[in-house]
Amino acid sequence: MAADILARHMRQRGEDVFMLTGTDEHGEPIAQAAEAAGISPQELVDRNAPKFEDLVGRVDSTHDFFIRTTDQGHIEKVQELVTRVKDNGYVYQGLYEGWYCPRCADFKNENEIGPGDTCLIHEIPLLREKEENWFFKLSAFQEKLEQLYEENPEMVKPDFRRNEALSFIRGGLRDVSLSRSQLSWGVPLPWDSDQVMYVWFDALSNYYSALGYAREGEDLTGRYWPASWHILAKDILKFHAVYWPAFLMAAGLEPPQRMFIHGYLLMGRRRCRSRSGTYSILSR
Ligand SMILES: [Zn+2]
Repeated sequence: MAADILARHMRQRGEDVFMLTGTDEHGEPIAQAAEAAGISPQELVDRNAPKFEDLVGRVDSTHDFFIRTTDQGHIEKVQELVTRVKDNGYVYQGLYEGWYCPRCADFKNENEIGPGDTCLIHEIPLLREKEENWFFKLSAFQEKLEQLYEENPEMVKPDFRRNEALSFIRGGLRDVSLSRSQLSWGVPLPWDSDQVMYVWFDALSNYYSALGYAREGEDLTGRYWPASWHILAKDILKFHAVYWPAFLMAAGLEPPQRMFIHGYLLMGRRRCRSRSGTYSILSR
């Protein structure tokens, strides 16, 4: 709703606006939920995606496209992006060993682990993971990201979130897994079909991929990229404000211009289970 208000405001000012929302449909929690329900992951997401689309309809949202990360157009664009990143020399094969939260779909650093090896956000036990997979050379972007933040002081709002992201970057960036081998519900790597893309790189790419196929026979990428705003909740700051600009730069593309980070919608004292919208408004 906040994104929709912003989109309406921009249109009133005469700007050319494209607003995107949608559903992130890959990853472990979805595969597990499908298994528990005795159906395939595809059946599960086909059953649930229309509910979310109805919901944005009910608040009279003026989004221009509703993306599903299981769309063929998205999958193809993600494969194209990751191939560019690999061709540019930012992908290598290695062994991952460490702590992982399946709900966050996040590999945790030492300072992100709660008492008894638990997730600080979900308060569930973390899994000890050890697997051969492909890595993204995030460490190569330490200086480039610091420079990006310096040159674009308005990129991450509010300021205390910008400081949080920047201190994460300054704390030293380690390479991150780009793929998973023990999971089949995801976008296959174009050069290694035994592995699927780590769900965050797949999901984040939606902001870019949608422009390639939202209008049949028309590519909107040149008109609307880079996005002028991404709107997201605080728990996914690191992915948006650190991983995503680095991944785009690795593909030779421009990072989004600005992102706004909001807090949680609470029920009682707990956050709502659903992840707050990863809306993107793209405008010139
Ligand atoms: Zn978690």
